[in-house]
Amino acid sequence: MGLIVQKFGGSSVANAERVMNVARIVTETYHSGNDVVVVVSAQGDTTDDLIAKAAEINPKASKREMDMLLTAGEQMSISLLAMAIESLGYPVISLLGWQAGFNTNSAYGMARIKSIKTDRLRAELDKRNIVVVAGFQGLNKYDDLTTLGRGGSDTSAVAIASALHADRCQIFTDVEGVYTADPRKVPGARKLKEITYDEMLELATLGAQVLNNRSVEMAKKYNVEIEVLSSLKRVPGTIVKEVANVEKMLVRGVTKDTDVARISVVGVPDVPGIAFKLFAKLAAKGVNVDIILQSVGRDGTKDITFTVSEGNGPLAVELVKEVVDLPDEKIVCDTQVAKISVVGAGMETHPGTASKMFEALYEINVNIQMIATSEIKISVLIDEKDADRAVTAVHNKFLPEE
Ligand code: ADP
Ligand code: ASP
Ligand code: MG
Repeated sequence: MGLIVQKFGGSSVANAERVMNVARIVTETYHSGNDVVVVVSAQGDTTDDLIAKAAEINPKASKREMDMLLTAGEQMSISLLAMAIESLGYPVISLLGWQAGFNTNSAYGMARIKSIKTDRLRAELDKRNIVVVAGFQGLNKYDDLTTLGRGGSDTSAVAIASALHADRCQIFTDVEGVYTADPRKVPGARKLKEITYDEMLELATLGAQVLNNRSVEMAKKYNVEIEVLSSLKRVPGTIVKEVANVEKMLVRGVTKDTDVARISVVGVPDVPGIAFKLFAKLAAKGVNVDIILQSVGRDGTKDITFTVSEGNGPLAVELVKEVVDLPDEKIVCDTQVAKISVVGAGMETHPGTASKMFEALYEINVNIQMIATSEIKISVLIDEKDADRAVTAVHNKFLPEE
């Protein structure tokens, strides 16, 4: 008995049958005596389809208008789910993000939640309604609709769980939990019973899309325990929490991120201040830089290579051109790259992890373009076409099938 937040992703509500399936899960939870707040994403590929529709008309549409469009996806799914719950004979009300009190900043397309005014949510729960809330959206101080970034419904759910001090926050998806690698791509991937916020945050940031990284950041900050589980198969999922009872594994997971562009700047003058000017310029324009590599100077010049998200590639090239005076062919943007990472808190005290990863790649003849390490992760940049077999090879090296 308590207050339970249940979030269902796009694949869990993709069609009428799936919507009815979700309605059954929700009403069973309610029927056992719980208050239930449900957060839903847009159905199936709706968000991608809306983005494609916009691109047909204006590929450079303003972010404000994009948010106006994309919020429509979740408006459809909340009303359909509410209708399904009605049909089962339960009291229900659907609410858009703003009706549920979501206040965000004005960063259209990537807004951050500033606060949740919970009066309406509480009033509806007091009336014993099941409350179905549109994920991924809020309202800014200009009363304009905003979205929280792709995968943002996870964050909406964690935010509501925190604001209402819910007893449980369940994220239902199309796999059974968090695995040691994408279970759709790596046959030997194992489901984890528990995982810490820190490791989950690394996995999510490095490409494991099962949870949005901001949702994990928020869960850690407000100490919201998350359960990731399947909406299609009723089996225990994965618990994400502060101190997890984890198996002694060196590596917790292997990830792939293909949303990466590599910018190479060849032959910049080997003098002090170049790196500063370059990266200050990128930072000023909000371009996040990930891995950076600088070659040793030779004959008065050096090369600087770095990675950014794919969407920022063209802008990064423009900005580099403003700082260094080089012909176009010396500033190259390559988007056919992928970042493969191994994550695990155990690596901190265990030498040899990097070499083991490199060995796995050598064995399948995959060339490493760049390397970056931190206490709990090692990332390499490789050719995108090698990405899937590289993840499998690295996964099998550290987590061989039992
Ligand atoms: P939803 O629509 O429910 O939000 P997502 O597509 O955003 O679902 O996330 C679930 C998908 O994440 C899975 O279908 C799976 O292919 C992928 N995935 C990637 N890495 C992992 C991982 N380590 N564990 C589980 N799933 C993963
Ligand atoms: N519908 C949004 C997206 O596709 C939000 C989400 O799924 O969490 O990114
Ligand atoms: Mg998702």
